[in-house]
Amino acid sequence: MSTALVLFRRDLRLIDNPALAAACSAHAGILPVYIHTPGENDPWPAGAASRWWLHHSLTSLQTELRRLQGSLHLREGDSLCILRDLIKQSGAATVYWNRRYEPAAIACDTRIKAALRDHGIEVQTYNAALWREPWQIANQQGEPYRVFTPYWRNLRAQLESTPPPAPEPSESRWIKLPGSVPLRALQLLPTIRWDGEMNKTWRPGETGARQMLEAFCHEALGDYAQARDLPARHGTSRLSPHLHFGEISPRQIHFALLQHARRLDVRQRPDIEPYLRQLGWREFAHHLLYHFPHTPMENFNSRFDGFPWQPPDDALLTRWQRGRTGIPLVDAGMRELWHTGWMHNRVRMVVASFLTKNLRQHWHHGAHWFWDTLVDANLANNTLGWQWVAGSGADAAPYFRVFNPVAQAKKFDPQGMYLRRWLPELAQLPLDLLHEPWRDPSQLTGRGYPSPMIDLAESRKQALAAYQASKMQ
Ligand SMILES: Cc1cc2nc3c(=O)[nH]c(=O)nc-3n(C[C@H](O)[C@H](O)[C@H](O)COP(=O)(O)OP(=O)(O)OC[C@H]3O[C@@H](n4cnc5c(N)ncnc54)[C@H](O)[C@@H]3O)c2cc1C
Repeated sequence: MSTALVLFRRDLRLIDNPALAAACSAHAGILPVYIHTPGENDPWPAGAASRWWLHHSLTSLQTELRRLQGSLHLREGDSLCILRDLIKQSGAATVYWNRRYEPAAIACDTRIKAALRDHGIEVQTYNAALWREPWQIANQQGEPYRVFTPYWRNLRAQLESTPPPAPEPSESRWIKLPGSVPLRALQLLPTIRWDGEMNKTWRPGETGARQMLEAFCHEALGDYAQARDLPARHGTSRLSPHLHFGEISPRQIHFALLQHARRLDVRQRPDIEPYLRQLGWREFAHHLLYHFPHTPMENFNSRFDGFPWQPPDDALLTRWQRGRTGIPLVDAGMRELWHTGWMHNRVRMVVASFLTKNLRQHWHHGAHWFWDTLVDANLANNTLGWQWVAGSGADAAPYFRVFNPVAQAKKFDPQGMYLRRWLPELAQLPLDLLHEPWRDPSQLTGRGYPSPMIDLAESRKQALAAYQASKMQ
């Protein structure tokens, strides 16, 4: 009767969990474990919104395991010490886990693996988070890709040979040990309850992820290519936090889309390529983070190292963070983020451009704020997103592309529904003023909405001049 330990981390699901499936097929007894180790993710410990999600996702995993007569053994502390303790108590000779890709996580897992193997414990690791491992995709010179389109062409061609997702394990193979701490002891939830809107918006956990995917397939997939840029619509899948915590795998999503499309009549069949391509960006972000692990802190493109950012300005940053810049689309996005822990991708680009170009604050400040407030905060995607907008990243938008928040709002929120939703002070304004309220200052009196903190055209000009000057050096 061999026993194995399965260590859950960012793979908080039972279906299509390769480490869990492999352990279940090889061992009679399984001990499912989650160890809370905030210090091991430095310098990127989970932010407040991520901790909120994690609490609920672990609750959901506990419920799912209980349904199968099992239970999640929960601990807090040093991973290696706790694993050694559990191995001793359970008599397990093998530890299973799914791999992670952040530099700190890789260093931690490498250290733990070596220490366990030194003590004769076998360690088996798997890929649960990506279609392909970052090292499995290389260009013709055998090097990592730096440009998305050829990367995607290579990866897309390999997707057809992906095996189907694995089912959840069967019941009655679970081991239970004393010493598990209650979830609340991890203190993941905020003490000041700012999470009211988040509770209404999300259902963290494996079941919530599947429901979100199903709703997306039925309600938005067919129109995704057109609607994905409209922040007022539910035109995207909102699966990013579920993907980040591993409550659903990209392989499950791919198969679900294929199955959904096959069930429909040929003439109604949705084109799933635009959506797969976005998941391709997620894979590309992980490819970049793995091969260029310095990029969460340093420019991918070192030519930006001498760029003349403005000194950090707390007053400016606070207005941006709180959605009080006086630029409606920027403020609407920042308030959506504050209240729900999520922001539409189009608006993420606009608020990031405003911070790094109009205000010329370093992209680090934005990346850190997103890290604390996003429920989908993900080191690979966040680094790619910020460096892409700032112009310093791999395959990035050129620096001279400065998003104009007014033009963006007129194009992607033409009826102002998104603006009215997140800016109640402006909700009664006529459409032309809603997009540019400063055009009639008398209309702003008594509404409590600020006038613009910066002149968009002038600050754009200054940003471009700074960019030109830094190129000359
Ligand atoms: C400045 C900035 C910061 C960002 N930070 C994050 C972050 O911390 N975490 C995060 O998951 N995404 C981040 N993104 C990417 C993107 O905004 C979100 O993935 C997307 O908005 C999530 O919504 P969705 O699930 O409805 O996306 P959908 O449109 O439904 O896309 C499906 C999935 O594809 C992936 N995806 C989509 N667009 C991108 C993209 N541009 N880059 C990488 N993956 C993508 C996501 O996993 C997403 O869930 C950032 C983008 C920008 C511009």
